[in-house]
Amino acid sequence: MSLQFKTDALALVAGSLAKTLEPPAALSPSSWAVRNLVMPDGPRQGDTWSAEETPYIIEPLDFLGPDSPVNEIAVMKAAQTGFTAMLIAVIAHSIDRDPCRMMVIQPTDAALSDFNREKLQPAIDASTALRDKVIPQTSRSATGSTTYSKRYPGGSLTLAIASSAADLRSKTIKKLFRDEVDEYPDDLDGQGDPIAISDARLFAFLNQGDWKKADVSTPTIKGASKIERRYEQGDKRRWHIPCHHCGDEFVFEFGPHFCYEQQHPFKAHYVSPCCGAVIEAHEKRSLVRKGRWVATDPRPGAFPSYHFDQLSSPFVPWDDLAKAAIEASASHKTLQVFHNMRLGRPYEVKGDAPDHVRLMERRESDLKRGHIPPRGVILTAAADVQMRGIWVEVVAFAPNRETWVVDALYLDGSTESPDGEAFKQLEQRVLDREWPDSFGKTRKIDALGVDSGYRSHVVYAWTRAKQRIHPDHGLAAVLALKGAEGWGRPAMGTPGLVDIDLAGARVRRGARVWPVGTWPLKAAFYEDLRKEGRAAGKEADPPGYCHFPFWLDETYFRQITSEYLTDETYRGKTRRIWKLSGGEKDNHLLDCRVYNLALAEHLGLSSLTEDEWAGLARERGVPVPAEPEAKATEDDDLDKRLERLGRLNAERFR
Ligand SMILES: [Zn+2]
Repeated sequence: MSLQFKTDALALVAGSLAKTLEPPAALSPSSWAVRNLVMPDGPRQGDTWSAEETPYIIEPLDFLGPDSPVNEIAVMKAAQTGFTAMLIAVIAHSIDRDPCRMMVIQPTDAALSDFNREKLQPAIDASTALRDKVIPQTSRSATGSTTYSKRYPGGSLTLAIASSAADLRSKTIKKLFRDEVDEYPDDLDGQGDPIAISDARLFAFLNQGDWKKADVSTPTIKGASKIERRYEQGDKRRWHIPCHHCGDEFVFEFGPHFCYEQQHPFKAHYVSPCCGAVIEAHEKRSLVRKGRWVATDPRPGAFPSYHFDQLSSPFVPWDDLAKAAIEASASHKTLQVFHNMRLGRPYEVKGDAPDHVRLMERRESDLKRGHIPPRGVILTAAADVQMRGIWVEVVAFAPNRETWVVDALYLDGSTESPDGEAFKQLEQRVLDREWPDSFGKTRKIDALGVDSGYRSHVVYAWTRAKQRIHPDHGLAAVLALKGAEGWGRPAMGTPGLVDIDLAGARVRRGARVWPVGTWPLKAAFYEDLRKEGRAAGKEADPPGYCHFPFWLDETYFRQITSEYLTDETYRGKTRRIWKLSGGEKDNHLLDCRVYNLALAEHLGLSSLTEDEWAGLARERGVPVPAEPEAKATEDDDLDKRLERLGRLNAERFR
């Protein structure tokens, strides 16, 4: 009896082992999906998956299969392009043919539940290859959100929400799929970036080399878009189609070749860039089927990244796109939606961070560190106090608002008390320093502003102890500043008196704090940063032009371009706010610049008359009126005069 049982058990075990060990035919995910994946909805409802209409899905999908050496891909796409089906197909294939631990991340609880309830689970239920393997599990996490996972022989799929650090930290995985990454929060309450947290889940598999990662998203704002960043890191593939007339390849682009009437009927069509052949709307689908991916930026180490939009989507008629394009011009917001959802492109809003690389390229080699340039009539310094250390920027201003970075420093040391090392350095290296001008003299800072947003009482105590009146203009030379939110604020508001805590003793109304309207100043600075001057081949540097010396490094440029403007909905109202760009964490030097602009306004940058400027310039060693060899003509403005005199004097003192 017992022997009989053993035999049966053995036979059973052997049988199931044989079943498990039987090597499944190596099928790429797309070949597998064509045979096994039943679509629960859409045009092929109840039928197996097909890429006949969407051949552009095949390559990225198969790169995510176990037989491909590719580890990661990124897809920057428009809505209605069929890439959700790609995610379903790769997950389904893996459950059946390459079971392992996987994670799929959606931006919100609602998005995750939609993805599971309307896409993934129905596909599993409809496909016989999967139906009996998968055991869905639903539970409540500690935070109250619904967590989902699916178990199958050989692995599990965790369905995570980007806003839940607990979800993202749950376990080690081999395959990671991130959907709509542009909607992920930048930071989870100080616990870090959901992208980085989820990347770390793959860590155990990095050495084995068979990990997989896919990022798929519609982009949002240029410079802040996470999927744009991923797309740029990759080799930027575009779907090239052959011209039906001459055979040359090109990409359908929204631009001059996409033609349509401004009113119904839109008669949208495409004129091929190669030979000017007209492609009618009804020919689009058959041409798209003949296309292929071409990397537009192939580089060693660059993974496959894709951009695909509705111009090429078989699901969106060109007339529909034309109508959307016409309607989108109504407002800034609709234009952004059109760019993101229809063209799959990040939208460039005014207030976007200027490109730090391009700013770096125009650095000037003749600006000496710590020296005031000839036309720098006003010299200010702003300090941003950190938990440790102080960031400082020193800026010279011309009467026409042109600026020069004279110095940029990080003063290391304790900031816990006004006697801390960093504050000592601030005094020695900035406040008391004699800054050489271009005329063989030296000058002190006209005003030093210290942000009191952090370590408020230390800053109050230090600025109070160091306060002084500048002899040239009779204004306070050391100011405690505090940034104020909102668009209606003046650069420098009316100072308020605050109580201070001096070594444990409370001094009522003991310090003066100046509110700074940082939002409009930031916008003005970005506008100035976008201005082009001689470095870009222009005849002159325009008013407000920002000059950067060659010794400034990338850190500086990243910090001053670290924020962008975005719309935030707060209590049903939308407002434009400044936000730190994804991937950036330090904006201290941007804060410093904004405070420097506030100080310059405080000193009269916009309000001094030409005579007053001339008076100030004279006090600063610029010999006005002119030297004989530098006769001022009627149409010369003061700036030009000062510049010429500066050069003459600089030569004299060399
Ligand atoms: Zn052609």
